[in-house]
Amino acid sequence: MDEFAIINRYFTGLGPQLPEVLEAQGDDCALLQIKHGELLALSVDTSVANRHFPLQADPWAIGWRCLAIALSDLAAMAARPLGFTLAITLPDADEAWLTEFSRGLRALADEAACPLIGGDTTRGPLSMSVQVHGAVKSQHHWRRSGARAGDKIVLLGPLGLASLGLKSMLDNPAKALNRKDWNRAETAYMLPRPLVIEALRLAQGVSISAAIDVSDGLLADLQHLLASSAVAAEIDLKRLPIQPELIEALGAEAALKASLQGGDDYALLMTLAEKDFELARSLCPDLVSIGRCVAGAGIRTLEGKVLDPQGFNHFLN
Ligand code: ADP
Ligand code: MG
Repeated sequence: MDEFAIINRYFTGLGPQLPEVLEAQGDDCALLQIKHGELLALSVDTSVANRHFPLQADPWAIGWRCLAIALSDLAAMAARPLGFTLAITLPDADEAWLTEFSRGLRALADEAACPLIGGDTTRGPLSMSVQVHGAVKSQHHWRRSGARAGDKIVLLGPLGLASLGLKSMLDNPAKALNRKDWNRAETAYMLPRPLVIEALRLAQGVSISAAIDVSDGLLADLQHLLASSAVAAEIDLKRLPIQPELIEALGAEAALKASLQGGDDYALLMTLAEKDFELARSLCPDLVSIGRCVAGAGIRTLEGKVLDPQGFNHFLN
């Protein structure tokens, strides 16, 4: 199969037809119509085999995952998906692999209403770069920089589970082969759910002062938001939603550490005025409050212990 047969068979007509997409594949560029009063949000993420996912992993899940991690960045800006491009490098034209990969990609493209509108197909070690394009209303786009002292810090989505899933696949590589065998942790790592719909619902109903998606660990990404906003955070560790699987597998202390530092969660971390919290919870009942912004810099617990995003080990000693 040549490049064009692959594109036609696996990467054409993938995802819904949106009115904003005037031209998808087939010309030299895709053409998108942005409405007046909207901004175009762009983000690209590269996934490399054996770096971001196991080479042998279930191809359906690889397809889902490479789009999911890119869509999570649209969620973090409350952007409505318009379409994505896929630059894929394939070792060979393995039809069984491509069939499953494009099915996984299609499942999320349909669920998130984000069509595939173009890309590039080359031969080499397996990797894929997904660029997502979204539209945000100019009057309520989210940024990392809007948090103010006194704002609540809220979280949506599970923490730490993905790092447990990654560990389990590194310990037992055969685990990655079939998604039907995965427990909640392995599923969290390979099949993250980008919180696009939840973000759009929140953006429409309530004023979010700042937001970021948690991909590198809660403390690391919270620190990015705090630095952009020039505020500090006080975290109530008792309110952190620690997943029961983590405590069972790791014990209480390491479960807390995985929740604070584990990567690949793709949860949403946001700040908002205290008075808006109940309204936000009525829109997203799973939203939890984990602390508040205060004047200064850095992250502390309610008891005043410093939580260093890099050197969190020290905190446990
Ligand atoms: P060009 O030479 O203009 O860059 P290509 O020959 O690389 O175009 O690709 C032909 C068409 O197929 C283009 O519209 C391109 O966007 C699309 N395309 C190529 N690879 C992919 C892919 N992996 N997924 C979706 N569309 C693709
Ligand atoms: Mg090309």
